[in-house]
Amino acid sequence: MLYLIATPIGNLGDMTVRAIETLKSVDMIASEDTRTTSILLKHFEIRKPQISFHDHNERHAAERVIGMLKVGQSVAIVSDAGTPGISDPGFAIVRRAIEEDLPFTMVPGPAAFVMALVLSGLATHSFTFRGFPPRKGGPRRRFIGVDKNAPHTLIYYESVHRIGAFLDDALAVLGDRPAALASELTKKFESIDRGPLSALIERLPEKPKGEYVVVIAGSDGKPAPADDEADDTE
Ligand code: SAM
Repeated sequence: MLYLIATPIGNLGDMTVRAIETLKSVDMIASEDTRTTSILLKHFEIRKPQISFHDHNERHAAERVIGMLKVGQSVAIVSDAGTPGISDPGFAIVRRAIEEDLPFTMVPGPAAFVMALVLSGLATHSFTFRGFPPRKGGPRRRFIGVDKNAPHTLIYYESVHRIGAFLDDALAVLGDRPAALASELTKKFESIDRGPLSALIERLPEKPKGEYVVVIAGSDGKPAPADDEADDTE
């Protein structure tokens, strides 16, 4: 059996009983970063061998995992934080397990985008999770522009290094919509700032810290800024 196991996004208290029990039961743990997972395993007194399973070796590691499953071993996939496969390795192994008709399931738990969406106060009945935008301005503005007429809530992950630039581009492309900026979720300095994009930009610290999720209201049907205002330059 293959298990994709969600782990905490900051607060170890969010580890589920089933995640601990499943990790204790498997033959091998395939981890995005074996050092990060070692800290988790040590905390919960789980002693299991690990192999590395990250973005750069995902296909190769997936074949190794498939080989183990075929000889009857059980394997758990664990990413650095949250749900495997959500802006983290996991997709390739799911595809391969389906192709090989091997059984697999998930042990569900934290995912930063779900928590940010619920806390945002923006519509939760219909939303699009866009994950990480491209790093450069032009491609990032085009990426945001794909959703500019969509009526549902939009959710993005962004690195601390680009959060300011992302918010500026979102304002330029989507207009001054209601939004929420969630950071350090489940951690000591958890915060959520709600307001129009322009206010979030104004209140963003000069040197932002931590991990961010951006939640932005869908289109209200009024025209977004013209394409030439949110230009496509780098
Ligand atoms: N698999 C994870 C999940 O289920 O949410 C996401 C992993 S992705 C590599 C990391 C990004 O998720 C961060 O850059 C940030 O956008 C978001 N994130 C993860 N943990 C977070 C937290 N505690 N607070 C706010 N955002 C978080």
